[in-house]
Amino acid sequence: NAPLRDVDPEIADVLNGELTRQRDYLEMIASENFVPRAVLEAVGSVLTNKYAEGYPGRRYYGGCEVVDIAENLAIERAKALFGAEYANVQPHSGATANAAVLHAIARPGDTLLGLSLDHGGHLTHGMKINFSGRLYDIAAYGVDPETSRIDLDEVRRLAHEHKPKVIIAGWSAYPRQLDFAAFREIADEVGAYLWVDMAHFAGLVAAGIHPSPVPHAHVVSSTVHKTIGGPRSGFILTNDADIAKKINSAVFPGQQGGPLMHVIAGKAVAFKLAATPEFVDRQERTVRGAAILAERLLQDDVKNAGIAVRSGGTDVHLVLVDLRDAAINGKEAEDLLHEVGITVNRNAVPNDPRPPMVTSGLRIGTPALATRGFDDAEFTEVADVIALALLPGADLPALRARVDALTAAVPLYPTLEQV
Ligand code: PLP
Repeated sequence: NAPLRDVDPEIADVLNGELTRQRDYLEMIASENFVPRAVLEAVGSVLTNKYAEGYPGRRYYGGCEVVDIAENLAIERAKALFGAEYANVQPHSGATANAAVLHAIARPGDTLLGLSLDHGGHLTHGMKINFSGRLYDIAAYGVDPETSRIDLDEVRRLAHEHKPKVIIAGWSAYPRQLDFAAFREIADEVGAYLWVDMAHFAGLVAAGIHPSPVPHAHVVSSTVHKTIGGPRSGFILTNDADIAKKINSAVFPGQQGGPLMHVIAGKAVAFKLAATPEFVDRQERTVRGAAILAERLLQDDVKNAGIAVRSGGTDVHLVLVDLRDAAINGKEAEDLLHEVGITVNRNAVPNDPRPPMVTSGLRIGTPALATRGFDDAEFTEVADVIALALLPGADLPALRARVDALTAAVPLYPTLEQV
């Protein structure tokens, strides 16, 4: 039982190097967050040793009486947090949760109607070489080229034309709220299931600052590690007993073997924390931070450099930047921001003229910085640094110094020790 440092110094160095990187850079990848120490403890625990195929009280292995408590707590907390009748907390990730949803409510060859990948949808919503695009017929909707918003009349038209088995509402890169009631109306008109993938905005829903899809959708899937800020993993909610049964058998044995009990314990902790006033405050700071960033990027100096904010702003935790008319492309902008100490990801814009490894856009999110402790003043400062970094002739060392001041003023994991 020697410590990691003695057993494998190379991996110990990786852990320390990554801790230092996370501390020294401002994390603005919209899908990332920082788990609290309590979640790190659960995920790094002896629960990783336990096989527990099946569900609490109905396992295919002995000795599950202790881990059953963790899974029951995760289920009950997820149900209470989102006001759902049924929850499955076993999906290893968002993608496996989504595979299970489709396994439960569709058959290979059925038609799915979701937001296309290049307009902000996710791989599992029907991308050609993803399992979803391989197994199902895909009819995709996009965003309006003028407003960058989803046009529900267009969704309705496509739904009536293609008669999908499943309509998917949810996104990986879209800065606005969705009208779940309207999506459900369209689904009902064509006899489709409505599946909402709230992976990105689940934390805002849990905090009550974003409409909930749970009353409207037949089934809702999510990750735990984006705005919620829990361990990397997924979960599925429904209010329909029949769908719940199908989901359970689709997750296990349909898609997965043994559940990751250490991660499920971490999910239980994350759901407990998500029911606190501190969590609501964090989600509010997250959304305010994104609004502050959008407002700065809409100012004249940025606009005159050909840089646009898609949809003219944001309602959620991220901002999409359009660089089609700018001097720099998505890859160059990502690299420039890295140089000043800010981590973001380049992101295609609809009908992007540049290849996916370059792109003409950026996706910038605020959840991780809100978790770090950022409030309006810090978000105002980082928004200005981002704006200035993207302008031609930026003084990058001076901007890096401003980032260093922020990382020092709001330290990450101040009590966590190196291994
Ligand atoms: N669904 C949406 C909307 C996502 O944005 C993502 C992750 O980017 C996923 C599902 C997949 O989650 P994971 O990466 O955990 O498989």
